[in-house]
Amino acid sequence: MIDLHSHTYFSDGSLAPLELIDMAVESGLEQLAISDHDSIEGLLSLEQLPTEIRIIPSVEISANWGKQGLHILGLNIDLENEALQSFLKQQQANRKKRALEMAHKLVQAGVEHAKNDIEYLLDSQPMVCRTHIAQLLVEQGYVKKFPDAFKKYLAKGGKAHIKDDWFELEDVIAIIKAAGGQAVLAHPMRYGMGTNKLKSLVEEFKALGGDGLEICYPNIHPGHKNLLATWAKAYKLCGSQGSDFHSPDKSWVKLGKFAPLPEDVEPVWTRW
Ligand code: AMP
Ligand code: MN
Ligand code: MN
Ligand code: MN
Repeated sequence: MIDLHSHTYFSDGSLAPLELIDMAVESGLEQLAISDHDSIEGLLSLEQLPTEIRIIPSVEISANWGKQGLHILGLNIDLENEALQSFLKQQQANRKKRALEMAHKLVQAGVEHAKNDIEYLLDSQPMVCRTHIAQLLVEQGYVKKFPDAFKKYLAKGGKAHIKDDWFELEDVIAIIKAAGGQAVLAHPMRYGMGTNKLKSLVEEFKALGGDGLEICYPNIHPGHKNLLATWAKAYKLCGSQGSDFHSPDKSWVKLGKFAPLPEDVEPVWTRW
């Protein structure tokens, strides 16, 4: 009953932090990591932490490994850490710049009102992620389905794609460690990397001071889960687990619902 990956509307989730916490308590979770993309604002907005559940202050940081974009979870971080806070301010500024660049490319691709619409979003909500832009493209009929917005416009190969241009993995791990957190490679199988490339990433991640791999998450293939568990043991990395919950509308992803961590892998939560 431990879920170490979730989002609120301070990034691309749909719930307020308190709504997410209520849902986690109702789901019977004992621990929940709130891990918004490049932001701890949701956690800072909480006046006090609940007593019914342990909230693990966390963040999901966008990073580059060469040209490859990655998501690195910083679990159990010190929210007061000034280096982390100023780092996240820079990430948020980069996100804003990227959203405006995407708007420009979308207009060029014939999405007429993209510039106004995205500027409006930037003014009216804490963060603009590709998820929000994808939603706009669906609502305005430029694509039928949400994943098509990524395929046609926002993902690699799409008309409004912007290359990943985040801080390097090394710097991201260092900032998480400096803030007292555990650095965990999020959803390793979602990057579309081949096995050899992924293995070298895991090796380098460990060498750079990384703590763990997210091994259990919804829909991971059991064979992939076993492969990650084998690497975790071989490279002395911990295992983590999380739903990557974004919204109750995506009813197929539920808080705390994923296969259990293999017993011979050291759970990351033994570190706190
Ligand atoms: P961003 O961090 O702004 O680049 O947005 C990334 C977020 O978009 C991810 O965390 C997912 O929630 C979502 N996302 C990325 N790729 C896809 C995809 N192919 N289909 C649906 N959602 C996606
Ligand atoms: Mn997301
Ligand atoms: Mn992610
Ligand atoms: Mn996530």
